Amino acid sequence: MADKIKAAYLDGAKNLVLSTADRPEIKSDEALVKVKSVGICGSDVMYYRTGGTKKRPITGPYILGHEVSGIVEDKGSDVKNLNIGDRVAVEPGITCGRCQYCKSGKYNLCKDVKFLATPPVDGALVEYISHKADLLYPLPDEISFDEGALVEPSSVAFYSVVKSGLKTAKSSLVLGAGPIGLLVFKMAKLLGSFPIGVVDVDDNRLALAKKLGADFTINVKDREIVKAVYDSGFGDEYDVVFECTGVGSVISSSVFLVKKGGHLSMVGIFDGTAPIRTKEIIDREITITGTYRFSNTFPDVIGLMERGMLEVRSLITHYFSLDEAARAFDIADKRSENCIKIIIRVG
Ligand SMILES: [Zn+2]
Ligand SMILES: [Zn+2]
Repeated sequence: MADKIKAAYLDGAKNLVLSTADRPEIKSDEALVKVKSVGICGSDVMYYRTGGTKKRPITGPYILGHEVSGIVEDKGSDVKNLNIGDRVAVEPGITCGRCQYCKSGKYNLCKDVKFLATPPVDGALVEYISHKADLLYPLPDEISFDEGALVEPSSVAFYSVVKSGLKTAKSSLVLGAGPIGLLVFKMAKLLGSFPIGVVDVDDNRLALAKKLGADFTINVKDREIVKAVYDSGFGDEYDVVFECTGVGSVISSSVFLVKKGGHLSMVGIFDGTAPIRTKEIIDREITITGTYRFSNTFPDVIGLMERGMLEVRSLITHYFSLDEAARAFDIADKRSENCIKIIIRVG
């Protein structure tokens, strides 16, 4: 009989229960990872809240978590890039490797991707996972397991900022100061963008953005966002606007905040239809890019963290054990206790 290990399951909306799973077997190209830290992502919270979506239904007890670090405890016979005992960050998307997207390096667009905690693929709120070894990146000593778990969301930010073409001394405005917005802000700052503004409806999050070096912040709670920005005295238009809220009305407004010849980077996920005044796109010659997850970013992000250029610890507000996962998700769902990034220390 297979060894039993502990796992947290989503069993219907807002019902997270602790139970057991079988210790996973590994194939020749896989490693067995003892899970250490898992970050709670907005998408985890979305599945927690809904119990599954129309496009991605959840049919039985389901494991969340895709921002993962751990230790290699065993490896298959073909695995050459890792040693047992390596501390690793887990890149969660297993792609086909054969399609035009995979072959051209845009593997984030692979149609056959199996991404942790994207139904029906289980996630990592479990003591052990098996994973493709070449998607495990050794972490240098400078990077803790908690920080290692944040290589994944940092990758989303890194990818969007690089793709936006943002350059040194160009201005940027980040809409939304959740974990992704704050990481986008940090990446923009790293690239030498200035001034950088951050917009949100939460004073606590904006205070953190300010503390982390935002040139200005604007609280748009109960205000029309374009007017609030125009009235702020911090300038009307920016070279690059990063839409990180995933809120339809903000998406509609965002084109009015982009400079002529500027760039709108859409990062926040909004699964709906947001009207945009298209003439603004033409008159301003705005380039709009969508960014879906990331590709080929893990080594770069780890390199930035290792050198102390990307600091992510300041985003972590809460730590829980796997046994406390239900409480962790309740806080993440309600956004209570001024939470920003919540880490579950599984091992
Ligand atoms: Zn995520
Ligand atoms: Zn593919």
